[in-house]
Amino acid sequence: MTGLKDRIKARIATEGPLSVAQYMSVCLGDPDAGYYMTREPFGSEGDFITAPEVSQMFGELIGAACLSAWQALGEPAEFQLVELGPGRGTLMADLLRMASLRPAFIKAARLNMVETSPRLREIQTATLSRGPLTPHFRNRFQDVPGGPLILVANEFFDALPIHQFVKTARGWQERQIGLSQDGELMFGVGTARLPDDAIPADLSSAPEGAIFETQPAANAIAEEIGHRIAGNGGAAILIDYGYLNTAAGDTLQALYKHAYDDVLAHPGEADLTAHVNFEALAAATVRAGAQALAPLTQGEFLLRSGLLERAGALGAGKSHSEQEAIRDAVERLAAPGQMGDLFKVLAVTNSGISFPPFDSAS
Ligand code: SAH
Repeated sequence: MTGLKDRIKARIATEGPLSVAQYMSVCLGDPDAGYYMTREPFGSEGDFITAPEVSQMFGELIGAACLSAWQALGEPAEFQLVELGPGRGTLMADLLRMASLRPAFIKAARLNMVETSPRLREIQTATLSRGPLTPHFRNRFQDVPGGPLILVANEFFDALPIHQFVKTARGWQERQIGLSQDGELMFGVGTARLPDDAIPADLSSAPEGAIFETQPAANAIAEEIGHRIAGNGGAAILIDYGYLNTAAGDTLQALYKHAYDDVLAHPGEADLTAHVNFEALAAATVRAGAQALAPLTQGEFLLRSGLLERAGALGAGKSHSEQEAIRDAVERLAAPGQMGDLFKVLAVTNSGISFPPFDSAS
């Protein structure tokens, strides 16, 4: 049993059950024992491998997309380059190496890393130490200075807290974490109800026990991004594990040492994520006045961006086993059934901008 689990139990005993959102926030962000504060989650030693850690090609192709965005914006002489939740800093290092092909882009960019974990900030600083730009660290996206924006986020929104509501005979009631008779963490249902007008019409006939998720924290950030882009111009590329249309379903999951785990078993030790509702994210940016381009799957995005050509160039003159490793990485990043269709890519720009490789707004 972890210290954090004991503390969560003590808190529930005195203050009452936690919402799923409160539980996620504590497990991931507790300053002493939260997952991102204490653990080394990425890579083969950690709990999961993210796309930038699979291959340098991922960050390079996002770098190419950022160059295309900068061009579409009319090559502003100064802009805020932002990454949300940069992990080990690998994506940004690869992005900047690619973007260095256009020295004027690097000259114009002010680099902002939105990262709450002091430990990961140190790792990111080290990763970027040989790169062309010095990062400014921000606790929240709201702290990024104004001006045109080019923003990327990979597997950031899935770490933000969700609320879950369970369909019962009395309506949609908030799912909570309380204590069982013998003092263990257990799921239950609270008295808080989701207002009927917050439920999409096609869920009105969902069976009892169905679960509906909301992501107010993610949507608030998306709205702020949309607001900045609509006001000052800009482009955002948001990549995550998620779904394109609002639907019922329980997507909260724990990953512990590369295996799925009971969500309540290892607070602070297991990674907790939820799938991202891209329909809701896109709607939040549009509400703020920006345009959301039709989302692509990660596979479509990478192939349209030239993944196969980049793989060929990277493999030229390399040994057989190095070429094999590059082929494996292409499969892993872009093949259906792997990251290629599970991950989605949403692009947001100010209206009237065309942003290849995304389709223009119709
Ligand atoms: N983008 C990286 C890492 C994804 S993990 C990659 O693809 O490898 C999620 C990242 O978001 C971590 O860096 C974590 O510390 C950060 N993070 C989680 N919640 C956050 C929050 N509320 N504000 C800022 N950063 C957060």
